Amino acid sequence: MNFLLSALPVLKDLVLLGGGHSHVEVLKRFGMEPLPGVRLTLISRGFETPYSGMLPGLIAGHYSHDEAHIDLQPLTRFAGARAVFDEAVGLDLVNRQVRFAHRPPISYDLLSIDIGSTPSLDVAGAAAHAVPVKPIGRFLDRWTLLCERLRTGTRKRIAVVGGGAGGVELLLAVQFRMRTLLEREGRSAAHLEYHLFTDSSRILPTHNGSVCRIFERVLRDRGVRIHAGSSVVEVEAARLRTADGQSHDVDEVLWTTAAAAAPWLAESGLAVDEAGFVRVSSALQSISHPEVFAAGDIAAMIDHPRPKSGVFAVRQGPPLARNLRYALLGEPLERYRPQRQFLSLISTGDRYAVASRGPWASEGAWVWRWKDRIDRRFMRRYNELPAMQAVEAPQVPAGLADEAAIAAVSEMAMRCGGCGSKVGASVLSRALQRIGVADRPGVLVGLDAPDDGAVIEMGGERAAIHTVDFFRSMIDDPYVFGQVAAAHALGDVFAMGGEAQSALAVVTIPHGPEAKVEETLTHVMAGAAAVLRADGVALVGGHTSEGAELGLGFAVNGCVNASRILRKSGLRPGDRLILTKAIGTGTLFAADMRHRAKGRWITGAIRSMLQSNREAARCLQAHGATACTDVTGFGLLGHLVEMLRTSEVDAEIDLAAVPLLDGAEQTVQAGILSSLQPQNVRLRRVIAITPEISAQPRFALLFDPQTSGGLLAGVPWERADACMNELRSLGYAAGAGAVIGTVTPRGDRPERVSLAHSLTGRYD
Ligand SMILES: Cc1cc2nc3c(=O)[nH]c(=O)nc-3n(C[C@H](O)[C@H](O)[C@H](O)COP(=O)(O)OP(=O)(O)OC[C@H]3O[C@@H](n4cnc5c(N)ncnc54)[C@H](O)[C@@H]3O)c2cc1C
Repeated sequence: MNFLLSALPVLKDLVLLGGGHSHVEVLKRFGMEPLPGVRLTLISRGFETPYSGMLPGLIAGHYSHDEAHIDLQPLTRFAGARAVFDEAVGLDLVNRQVRFAHRPPISYDLLSIDIGSTPSLDVAGAAAHAVPVKPIGRFLDRWTLLCERLRTGTRKRIAVVGGGAGGVELLLAVQFRMRTLLEREGRSAAHLEYHLFTDSSRILPTHNGSVCRIFERVLRDRGVRIHAGSSVVEVEAARLRTADGQSHDVDEVLWTTAAAAAPWLAESGLAVDEAGFVRVSSALQSISHPEVFAAGDIAAMIDHPRPKSGVFAVRQGPPLARNLRYALLGEPLERYRPQRQFLSLISTGDRYAVASRGPWASEGAWVWRWKDRIDRRFMRRYNELPAMQAVEAPQVPAGLADEAAIAAVSEMAMRCGGCGSKVGASVLSRALQRIGVADRPGVLVGLDAPDDGAVIEMGGERAAIHTVDFFRSMIDDPYVFGQVAAAHALGDVFAMGGEAQSALAVVTIPHGPEAKVEETLTHVMAGAAAVLRADGVALVGGHTSEGAELGLGFAVNGCVNASRILRKSGLRPGDRLILTKAIGTGTLFAADMRHRAKGRWITGAIRSMLQSNREAARCLQAHGATACTDVTGFGLLGHLVEMLRTSEVDAEIDLAAVPLLDGAEQTVQAGILSSLQPQNVRLRRVIAITPEISAQPRFALLFDPQTSGGLLAGVPWERADACMNELRSLGYAAGAGAVIGTVTPRGDRPERVSLAHSLTGRYD
């Protein structure tokens, strides 16, 4: 969420469908120059998008995954856009909505489509037996498996179907990679045989004759068999059939034929060409629906038809960004005429490339270096974003401007959402002491010994658990935020060994036109309802109000057997301390706000937050857990100290065994911490440590506030291994690190936590 823009209500929704080459430029430009009142939403299948120019180099092993991908998470944050990482499956042009398989539709006032194309698989058996090169993300997932299959020493015939630049580059990249992989192991690649099939009379038919001859020479020199004029008409498990009736034995088939469009575009009623691509004017505007724009492979410019190529998608970015802005402002659109001749730099697998432009061709290692420089410069534009501008904090009136006031006001501008927005533990306990609340009869767990929830006697063995949570959104996709808020709220009931039964929602929705407010509410509640349903909880009511920022919480009711309540107290010396989820959400989302977190870190953190604690709680209880809590805003150490204090014991924690979310150490190392961290760090006084431990980023993470964190429990030492095994089989806390320490007898000072680098040997 861009805090500068959030001051204005959302008046118009610009939805960018697909994170392709044109849309990354639109995001960058809107980030540099936002349009107040316009909410940008990027819908993309994945949180990163591959750059086509570097794809052959990625396969050949010249580039790492990160070098060849644009990370859409920081880019959308930079643009002040909502990121919705899901696959669109349809369009409702009447109601102006993008549809999905598993979540409510997203409405737009203006829609721009840049979803690329996939190779057409309309040949019998191709969908079942060939590996299409696109979607590239899915191809790359399969590529690792393919490499493994090709490494076995037996003869393998690899067929690439498609003789355009994409197919030729792909084949040469695969061949180069396999040769270098096997040579590194001291083995030969002679068992691998390569075949290139194309239905045209020569390879690279859209390039000049010199380029074709250079590649014919390169392919011949590398032992590749070219099957020109061979249209593949059928693919079977280990065979290809061509139109001339011949059959070819093959082991692997890679598919890079002519581009095809997503079928749901034509089905929606949008004007498309005979191949299903969106027909657009020279302003990149749909000729049938003026509120829809399209660019890249998916667009067919009716006045200037061009081949499907990343070059055009890249070039269309700036005029598309300008025209979307003009359309939003009701200004005349700009006409765009793509160049007729363009430079292609086509690689030959090794660090060598061929340049092609109109009738001109040239080749050499220098062409590769040239291409490499261009490609890296392009990637820097989107992966190295300008530092976040400081949000202007309100001026403190002169008479009030003491040091504490100025610090509080400037910190306000960067305050985290999620559990980072919680009030610190000591602030809370001081406030409660001041009002002097006392519990009434029938309260089994109340404010005199606070726990994860309150427990009230119901008569007999039954007791009711009441708990409440609320926080501001730190995730810009309201559906996912709803899911996380619900998972978080249920954590308290599970931590007490109870079953959640019903929930009341408290929602704050940002001000705006009624339709926008309704849609946000629908999304946030749909996400929450999905999680509540999965854990068997009924949503029975709630309260909604408008406010400056999106916020959601739940009052949850549950039940528990009064004799089996899991409390924070009850730890016994010798118990092993088990943590069921990795920590680090506070620092990761603080980094995300500053557009410094990678998409895979945030995706990993969200996956962890969405994992229900229900099964973990059952497992811990089945293994005789002596005490339990859920790790949330006060951080791992804050919650541990609460347990130690009430249990009157100490603990030794093995810092190396504490599981961390991917990226958390890097963001802490970069000095990015949640705004709640300083309050949590006050507990540092209870820790016995050496200076070199306290300098580790891991140490800082002990204080990191968690949203929808895992359970922290004491389990009798003799049951700890079995408990861990079962937790792992349930999908919790991969790795042995989840046994994070041992409960020790109370020493001479209250609540003492000793930290060691590694004590893991003690748990074997
Ligand atoms: C092997 C190979 C090598 C190539 N090499 C080059 C080259 O060197 N130079 C060159 O100019 N061109 C090259 N091309 C062509 C190039 O890949 C495409 O022309 C280019 O990627 C098109 O860009 P785009 O922006 O239209 O779409 P894409 O780059 O394909 O991006 C589309 C984006 O939309 C997302 N998306 C797709 N469908 C959905 C959906 N339903 N819902 C949500 N999100 C969706 C995708 O995840 C992706 O992020 C190559 C192609 C291949 C196959």
